[in-house]
Amino acid sequence: MRKPVLILGGTAEGRELANMLARDGKWRVIYSLAGRTATPKLPDTEVRIGGFGGAVPLATYIQQEGIAALINASHPFAFGISRNAAAAANRAAVPLLRLTRPAWTAVDGDQWHEVADWPDALALLPDDARVFLAIGFQELRAFSGLLDQFFLVRTVDPPATPLPLLHFEVELGRGPFSVEDEIALLRRWNITHLICKNSGGVGAYSKLEAARALSLPVIIKRRPRKLPVPGVSTVSETAAWLAAVVP
Ligand code: NAP
Repeated sequence: MRKPVLILGGTAEGRELANMLARDGKWRVIYSLAGRTATPKLPDTEVRIGGFGGAVPLATYIQQEGIAALINASHPFAFGISRNAAAAANRAAVPLLRLTRPAWTAVDGDQWHEVADWPDALALLPDDARVFLAIGFQELRAFSGLLDQFFLVRTVDPPATPLPLLHFEVELGRGPFSVEDEIALLRRWNITHLICKNSGGVGAYSKLEAARALSLPVIIKRRPRKLPVPGVSTVSETAAWLAAVVP
């Protein structure tokens, strides 16, 4: 019988892992999403969508489905589900692994200002800044107090609710984007600053290369603190871990 594995997803590597394990034939792969995106990219596996309701219901789900191992392949900044996964795995006594792609590091020509959280970013913006605010939709409120600066926000789906910003424009688009596309975007909107998270990975990196090419300052948020959970940074290491913990 195929052994059930739960992957907390929402990332390219989560999808890649799900597809890889499904091809193996040994696993019943359940890929889980929070449900933030209307038309998410999905793996070719079983998918469940929506929050579990916290760590305790997640542990109950793990027990009811007979999950043999839990893999947290959520985004490096998805701290809430990561904390819940650690508590639930402990409660349900299943092995847990955190899969996170490596963080980016600055190279020659980058003008990075690393911040721990968004309030630190506010102080770095002059009044006449025109900002490409590439931080996702959930956290825009942190910039709602800025009345002079202009913000360009890019989203996959048209916003369903009003944005908590005063001067802004919305650009619709789903990555990955080429460096040329990103340079054209930054030029088209006369952007002076890029604000983003240190998400890592290939797909979202081109905006940083574009900022470098145009000598623009980048305000980049550091990753949240690491939880005491075993971790790897690649899909193949994850598959090897799984084969070892669920023989
Ligand atoms: P979060 O703050 O870590 O989690 C908030 C709540 O959303 C969790 O407590 C959980 O609800 C639910 N949730 C999150 N990920 C889930 C998953 N994979 N399956 C089922 N429920 C999930 O999450 P977030 O930072 O808002 O991210 C939400 C999703 O978007 C994640 O899957 C993440 O991989 C993806 N994502 C996040 C970012 C980012 O910058 N944060 C960027 C790209 C993609 P309950 O407590 O009700 O279980």
